[in-house]
Amino acid sequence: MPGPDMIPFAQNPHPAPMAEDARAAILANPGFGTAFTDHMVSIDWAEAHGWHNAQILPYGPIALDPAAAVLHYAQEIFEGMKAYALEDAGTTAGTMGGITLFRPEANAARFNASARRLAMPEMPPALFVDAVTQLVLADRQWFPTVPGGSLYLRPFLFATEAFLGVRPAKAYRFLVIASPAGNYFKSGASAVSIWVSDYTRAAAGGTGEAKCGGNYAASLVPTADAFARGHDQVLFLDAAERKWIEELGGMNLFFAFDDGSLITPPLGGTILPGITRDSLLTLARDEGLTVREERYSLDAWRADAESGKLVEAFACGTAAVVTSVGKVANASGAFTIGSGGPGQLTERLRQRLVAIQRGHAPDPHGWVKRIA
Ligand SMILES: *Cc1c(COP(=O)(O)O)cnc(C)c1O
Repeated sequence: MPGPDMIPFAQNPHPAPMAEDARAAILANPGFGTAFTDHMVSIDWAEAHGWHNAQILPYGPIALDPAAAVLHYAQEIFEGMKAYALEDAGTTAGTMGGITLFRPEANAARFNASARRLAMPEMPPALFVDAVTQLVLADRQWFPTVPGGSLYLRPFLFATEAFLGVRPAKAYRFLVIASPAGNYFKSGASAVSIWVSDYTRAAAGGTGEAKCGGNYAASLVPTADAFARGHDQVLFLDAAERKWIEELGGMNLFFAFDDGSLITPPLGGTILPGITRDSLLTLARDEGLTVREERYSLDAWRADAESGKLVEAFACGTAAVVTSVGKVANASGAFTIGSGGPGQLTERLRQRLVAIQRGHAPDPHGWVKRIA
């Protein structure tokens, strides 16, 4: 039953969805973020009406006034999450059983935290989850057929009001689009190489903990720089002392030591509070590992990697899941983590998380939400 926070969705199915053979070709080799499903969700917000005009409609271009505030002042936030197709026992391997989301309420809560920071309207969490769910159900034939595949979901909100003055807009649009996803890193890399940038990502009091497009715009030059130097990702140090490790362009970091303990940088306003990060903190503590949310410097990382005290490092996020860091470089030189390949603890934590996400292991924390 729709609660008070729910609004009806108009259903406008695509008159000509992609042909089955073309879709099958994409689903067999989805890559990341390049192909999109047949539909999208759209919901409007206006000061006078709140959230209204919810619909599922064919995926396609949208009309925007050239003065729309988002195009000038970047009032935009987004989320990234995945839907998983279960292979139910009793069905032929590879055929679809149920469909799940992983901690969608956490995405809804973070979306609203981002909205508050960017002076945008909050969305009832139940409406956010309903919107995402409706899109997955409309496009349920779009799950990749490759191992490790999922349906990546991108909810986002932007200012549509046509107005060039500088103040929070009075009209917004919320969209959800979906993209079949395989491996995030091109090579399907078993361990990634990262470049420590001289640029910074976020300063205290800024927007570092909000998931907003503006943070990514500012990270493109440092990221391109990392790619040009042959690395997979960029790492940012803190903006004040240029000393403490913060995170990658779109992933949080963990460090594993020879005594079995783990460190991850603390959330302090400049780091994006990753749901994968939070889930791994919980899983590591479940295993009895000592995990500290504690500042860790680049100098200590290099020294500990060289002495052997640091045995593994890994990046984590919804898109890339959990990926070992094999090599780290900056202007003054490079160092290798462990053997430079995938780490054992990293691999174990990745498998534990993925097993829960895919319904292959019990879900003691109630993270998995079955939607079909
Ligand atoms: C989204 C994001 C992450 C990872 O968050 P998850 O919820 O784990 O996907 C990490 N860092 C940045 C900058 C991000 O935008």
